[in-house]
Amino acid sequence: MNRTQSLNAKNLSRWDHHYLWHPFTPQQYWEQEKPLIIERGRGCYLYDDAGNRYIDGVSSLWVTVHGHTHPALNRAIRRQLNRIAHSTLLGLSHEPAIVLARDLVRVAPPGLQRVFYSDSGSTAVEIALKMAYQYWANQGQPRKHSFIRMENAYHGDTVGAVSVGGITLFHQVYKPLLFKTYPAPSPYCYRCPLGKKPDHCRQACLDRLEQLMVRRSASTAAFILEPLVQGAAGMITFPPGYLKRARELCQRHQILMIADEVAVGFGRTGALFACEQEEVTPDLLCVGKGITGGYLPLAATLTTEGVYQAFLGRVEEMKTFYHGHTYTGNPLACAAAVENLRLLADKDFFRKLRKKIVRLERLLVPFRDLAHVGEVRQKGFMVGLELVRDRDKKTPYPPDLRLGHRVILEARKYGIIIRPLGDVIVLMPPLTIPEKALKSLVDGTFRAVRDVTEAQPK
Ligand SMILES: *Cc1c(COP(=O)(O)O)cnc(C)c1O
Repeated sequence: MNRTQSLNAKNLSRWDHHYLWHPFTPQQYWEQEKPLIIERGRGCYLYDDAGNRYIDGVSSLWVTVHGHTHPALNRAIRRQLNRIAHSTLLGLSHEPAIVLARDLVRVAPPGLQRVFYSDSGSTAVEIALKMAYQYWANQGQPRKHSFIRMENAYHGDTVGAVSVGGITLFHQVYKPLLFKTYPAPSPYCYRCPLGKKPDHCRQACLDRLEQLMVRRSASTAAFILEPLVQGAAGMITFPPGYLKRARELCQRHQILMIADEVAVGFGRTGALFACEQEEVTPDLLCVGKGITGGYLPLAATLTTEGVYQAFLGRVEEMKTFYHGHTYTGNPLACAAAVENLRLLADKDFFRKLRKKIVRLERLLVPFRDLAHVGEVRQKGFMVGLELVRDRDKKTPYPPDLRLGHRVILEARKYGIIIRPLGDVIVLMPPLTIPEKALKSLVDGTFRAVRDVTEAQPK
């Protein structure tokens, strides 16, 4: 049996079902469906092993920035590969890590001056949590060891990141493993947790946040949030000004701010970093996902010189940050990230992107007429379409209908790959998607949503 025969599609499907365990996947259902096996990608397109072409409508899980097999990114990685694939940052240094740190600091919100690498968004968050706690401990305030977090938040899957998360479906089962945190209401205006109407609320959720900070200041190291958009919660977009106010409250109550830009960073919201849009500099900034243009696993936690200085001291003072992952700052990944930033620095990049964001906004208008689309949310190139059984009452569909899942399967017939968050349909294409493909993506999704929801008995 030669290699091509042994790897035919039928075998791959069988072996997938037999050997693999997929992330975030109810495997019982997975085993009943034929897996879609991706073989290659080009630009905003993915190709399966039968040669079918699809638009990559969620940027291969929110990571792809400039498209797949981008010549400049491929070249940058190859160039580095010919030198060395991996060398450690523990006790040694290397050029890609140094250059990337310099480049990140140059473009990050002003005041963030130190870069600590890791390999996933979750680890970037773990690092921020530990740094925030130890920052206070190193200054004789070990009682500031708790965290204020937001309801509906998602910060990753490691135990620390889950402790500051707030998505019941994902997080409930691990409750006994988690450390205690204080939840602040999420600005989910469509379903306001405080029962307010968006135009008359005077941002009551911010008052709640402040009350919490007043009460918990002595025991709180940091407040963590996803700036501008709560991604995994279903693309919940913040009311304007929320982020800036939250930043002021942190300062007033001596609580560090951790901005988790793992999803929103690197252009997704229409600016390089979401924090820029409200002129906010957090004390700690977590980035991941798009940092390498969507090529390789890499993440970083950026912080201020003030936080960094608190970790200096003689060994016996025990102020050192004893944390690091084996592949921290991997040279191949850093080389890809340096090239990603170079491409994002092109003066036309954001001009073109902003034009497409406006186009996308217009393309989304027809969704508002669909009987089962409760809300259309968009921030930049992040879109969430919340499907509901009854639009007037905002009644959700029962989860066992798996409606979101059915919509994305239907969309495949139109050559579109997307992935829902429950019954929120997510669109998050690569930022360089051509306008024509963007239109095909939205139009195909529209048909899939309409056909699946309207075939559904009330
Ligand atoms: C995806 C995500 C993470 C986790 O990143 P991983 O690389 O999957 O560990 C953390 N925070 C936010 C906001 C995310 O969207």
